[in-house]
Amino acid sequence: MSFSKSLLGWYDKCGRDLPWRKQENAYYTWISEIMLQQTQVNTVIPYFNRWCSRFPDVETLAKADYDVLLKLWEGLGYYRRCRNIHETAKIIVRNYADTMPDTLEDLTKLPGIGDYTAGAILSIGFNKKIPAVDANVMRIMARILMVKDPSKVKNKKRIITEVQRNISEERPGDFNQALMDLGSIVCKTGKPNCKICPVQNHCSAFASGLQDAVPRRIKKKKVPIKTVVAGMIWEGDKFYIQKRGPSGHLSSLWEFPGGKVEPGESLETTLKREVMEECGFKIRVGKMVGNVNHAYSHFKIDMTLFSCHLEKQKAEIREPRETEWITLDEINNYAFPKANHKLFYQISRENN
Ligand code: SF4
Repeated sequence: MSFSKSLLGWYDKCGRDLPWRKQENAYYTWISEIMLQQTQVNTVIPYFNRWCSRFPDVETLAKADYDVLLKLWEGLGYYRRCRNIHETAKIIVRNYADTMPDTLEDLTKLPGIGDYTAGAILSIGFNKKIPAVDANVMRIMARILMVKDPSKVKNKKRIITEVQRNISEERPGDFNQALMDLGSIVCKTGKPNCKICPVQNHCSAFASGLQDAVPRRIKKKKVPIKTVVAGMIWEGDKFYIQKRGPSGHLSSLWEFPGGKVEPGESLETTLKREVMEECGFKIRVGKMVGNVNHAYSHFKIDMTLFSCHLEKQKAEIREPRETEWITLDEINNYAFPKANHKLFYQISRENN
């Protein structure tokens, strides 16, 4: 049986039942594929459902307030994706009459849409015979073709050509989704479960007994750990929060003021310096109220939060930001980074 037939036969029986697959809808494919980047399927499902019940199409999304989108995205991480989705929706409404473009050329011009996402949208949403090759598909095909290093350009090209050659004429979207499911359920990174694999007969790595060794693993780089300090500055029953700038890491999210501890600096000195620079406040640093570790893609943070009291407010600061004084009950009205939520959790446990 051909590779495509074997794969689709398995997909019809064992494919995952996912909310964005309930109907062919290019908008659902786009939103789900962006959410799924670097994020597990089970994490994405509730986010996707909430998002699509609030913003069921490109038009409603384009009109949305970005802070509302950010609140819906809160906790999913890689916030640039949320910004790109919003910008793309506005471009689609402006230039494509509210309809997702249906060519590779147009789609890949849009913010946050690369070849893989465009291939998924075109094949699943428009039934076009375009491959969608991400890291999971690369891994499967590297094993099928016995390619030890799929990161090399010529090997990558060979893999894409092979997917293109095998993709189903009648069901290109299902073919791509079947490969995604195969990578997630059967041909996993660690130990592939070759015993139940529908394309075992086509697999060179399996035939050679090398399925565990192909493709070659790349050693993960050690990520640096930054020591960070933040202040919960109280005035009465309210504390101070500020909004991060519109670009860069964690853009437009709310946070406590604070920053990175420089070598030789104490946590208290850093906090006083950062709060003076960022907010123009002279503060008295009180007791520690929480400490969390959190991992981002390229670094980790060890963050300590202190309760602080305002001593004096300076008139001017270099880069004024949007700010609020809020009570603990109002936290849910704002989108915060996950590390801050971990701190809120520690505070709430302390108070109960
Ligand atoms: Fe992957 Fe094994 Fe199937 Fe080959 S036979 S594609 S290694 S699960």
